[in-house]
Amino acid sequence: MTRTPIIAGNWKMHMTLEDAKDLVLGIHHTLKFPGNVDVVVAPPFTALTTVVAVLKESYIDVAAQNLHEKDQGAYTGEISGNFIKNTGANYVIIGHSERRQYFHETNEQIGEKITAALRNDLIPILCVGETLEQRTANEHFAVTQKQITEALKDFSEIELEKMVIAYEPVWAIGTGEVATVEQIDEIHKHIRTVLGEMFSGSFADKVRIQYGGSVKPSNAKDILSLEHVDGALVGGAALKAMDFIEIIKAAV
Ligand code: PEP
Repeated sequence: MTRTPIIAGNWKMHMTLEDAKDLVLGIHHTLKFPGNVDVVVAPPFTALTTVVAVLKESYIDVAAQNLHEKDQGAYTGEISGNFIKNTGANYVIIGHSERRQYFHETNEQIGEKITAALRNDLIPILCVGETLEQRTANEHFAVTQKQITEALKDFSEIELEKMVIAYEPVWAIGTGEVATVEQIDEIHKHIRTVLGEMFSGSFADKVRIQYGGSVKPSNAKDILSLEHVDGALVGGAALKAMDFIEIIKAAV
């Protein structure tokens, strides 16, 4: 099964409007023809409309970093899926470990957010991954399995057709510490097995599973060459055009 790799940059709470414009123009002008790879950037909400406008004629898609479960209502400070769709963005990151850790998002709530994304025709990038404590206790297989089965239990494989999963071990995010290729390989295979058991083998074969956690130009090729790794979710290195471009090139 050939899956088109997908490289996504999660900008987190970085980038003013000016910085955002410079970054995406830098990527687009430097790398005009990326080849067979999907490229996505996830600016903060405030820059979505601007980044979509700047990238209108480009190959780069735009994601939000989160969304609220409801489409509208008295939820001060929240952003809904239809507002995101309205900006022209077409992906949304859901269940990032920072959302789970600092905003206490549960698997159930993450499932509701996936419903909201699909209702608004946004492609979900579902993040899963274990903490250092869970890895040390050898619970990483069970933890990722639970995150996936609980978040996806109410969906059919048709609904989840375009969904992307990002495996991001929490201990490797923003720490400079990268999982070994053996660790990445075995857990990506495990995720595909879990999807196969929940849905079907052909569905599991089609779903793209990204790796995330301190991906940078120097380690991207080794990680992206693994059979079950279909791209990367990139944090820190996505804030520098040249680094992000090197990672995109490593995926092709
Ligand atoms: C992330 O935020 O999803 C991430 C993987 O960050 P970093 O690449 O900085 O580890």
